[in-house]
Amino acid sequence: MLNFVLFGPPGAGKGTQSQKLIDRYQLIHISTGDLFRAHISNQTSLGKQVSALIADGQLVPDEITIAMLEEEVEKNPEAKGFIFDGFPRTVAQAAALDAFLKGKGTSIAAVIALDVDQDELTKRIAERHKQTNRVDDQADKLQKRIDEYFTKTIHVLPYYEDQNKLNKVNGIGNIDTIFAELCQVVDKF
Ligand code: AMP
Repeated sequence: MLNFVLFGPPGAGKGTQSQKLIDRYQLIHISTGDLFRAHISNQTSLGKQVSALIADGQLVPDEITIAMLEEEVEKNPEAKGFIFDGFPRTVAQAAALDAFLKGKGTSIAAVIALDVDQDELTKRIAERHKQTNRVDDQADKLQKRIDEYFTKTIHVLPYYEDQNKLNKVNGIGNIDTIFAELCQVVDKF
């Protein structure tokens, strides 16, 4: 199995680039944000539990997120590998993912971090908000998500850097140029 983490702040382009990666490499894409949104729109008990937190731009507690992620991986026993998008977002999640994958005899091959500055993130999400109307893309909620990223999620980077798995890619510019850079990383494996 070949597993990658696509990492970056809200608006970095993780969703767009994940889509292109799964088309090319036939990996299973797991976006914890998409999973939570599906639970909310299906009004499951998990959805009810997390909807206020998500609408407010806060992270969902680790235990809930890790359990949902592991369940999703288990649903795909035939997978050639996974692209984790929006997970891990805390060091505890990263450590849990390592332990979980180790138990399955596999690991994270590489982490690809999309680098985008805060001004560009704010501009992109304002644009996305017009199109999708995601409640957590509203300016004040977005600021909270960006704050969550820079206080909690950013620490995941040194975690993977210590394992020599971190690959930073410039996330600003032409979508296909950025994709080509991601492919260079994936093709090494
Ligand atoms: P996203 O679509 O990845 O931007 O995620 C949307 C929201 O879902 C986030 O702002 C969090 O509230 C929640 N969420 C998604 N992934 C995680 C995660 N790994 N840990 C905690 N909360 C998450």
